[in-house]
Amino acid sequence: MTANTVHGTSGEYSPGSTAARQARERLERERRNRAAQLIVLEGPDEGQPDETAPGRLDTLRRTLEEIEEALGRLEEGRYGLCEGCGKPIPEGRLEILPYARFCVVCQQRQRGRA
Ligand SMILES: [Zn+2]
Repeated sequence: MTANTVHGTSGEYSPGSTAARQARERLERERRNRAAQLIVLEGPDEGQPDETAPGRLDTLRRTLEEIEEALGRLEEGRYGLCEGCGKPIPEGRLEILPYARFCVVCQQRQRGRA
């Protein structure tokens, strides 16, 4: 048996695998939810104008874009890998945030820079 020093290959979420299928289901559910929220926010405004709507619309649109990008990464077999350090993003994090692009460490680094 030869020791393999390569960690974090994209094997787990390779296209066609069970993990990839589950991730896709999570992402598509998330996309449906966000799209439904978007329709509600963009819909005809009855009654009082909602002053927080423009900000929420922005956030929703950005989230939908991130979901699309995550679906694209899934197709390419790059899903679940941190864009900052290239290490696999912990599964628990992906369950909560299926479109996460960074691991917790890199996410905090990003936030610190902003
Ligand atoms: Zn990272």
